[in-house]
Amino acid sequence: SSFRSLGLIEPLLEAVDQLHYTTPTEIQAEVLPHALQGRDIIGVAATGSGKTAAFALPILQKLWEEPKGLFACVMAPTRELAYQISQQFESLGSAIGVRCATIVGGMPIMDQAVALAKRPHIVVATPGRLNDHLENTKGFSLRGLKFLVMDEADRLLDMDFGPIIDKILKVIPKERTTYLFSATMTTKVAKLQRASLSNPVRVEV
Ligand code: AMP
Repeated sequence: SSFRSLGLIEPLLEAVDQLHYTTPTEIQAEVLPHALQGRDIIGVAATGSGKTAAFALPILQKLWEEPKGLFACVMAPTRELAYQISQQFESLGSAIGVRCATIVGGMPIMDQAVALAKRPHIVVATPGRLNDHLENTKGFSLRGLKFLVMDEADRLLDMDFGPIIDKILKVIPKERTTYLFSATMTTKVAKLQRASLSNPVRVEV
């Protein structure tokens, strides 16, 4: 299949072309049609599969159709992964003017508060620091959120982010689209899935 046949809009087709993504990877080919129809997704896929673009592209497409407010939040287990995800959103979404903020531990809180005040469309975060901002940064909330992504959910839970994620789930809209990606489906991941996704399509590669 091609990105065009999967239903991507022109500016995103140009972006994948510029990144020399000539053919969708397996996870992208399987996720994109369901995601573009608005379904929740469970993706069982490892790093290197192209999973980041599999969730970034449908979010960018919906953002382009209906741009408003803080649109999507991606939770990732590590700083490094969070920065990589933001980079992919920025390179895939530059043509549609996407604004991204990366909110991770170990970096200055004030700089991040300033970045959040600039009204990003996408926040990519590690859960602990995201929760700090939800509790302490004036004017920042996830109340208008349309998409939640939990990336590398098995690692998020191994790192004991479970209780913080539960807390964050309580302050985001129930009416949203949720994507959960994990390299492995553990009991803990299945429990998180049941607590946070609605009638998801499961894609395994
Ligand atoms: P990920 O699994 O999301 O960490 O992606 C692994 C690497 O594959 C990243 O460097 C991406 O830029 C790259 N990539 C993602 N999708 C494609 C594609 N369709 N064709 C070629 N490379 C890709």
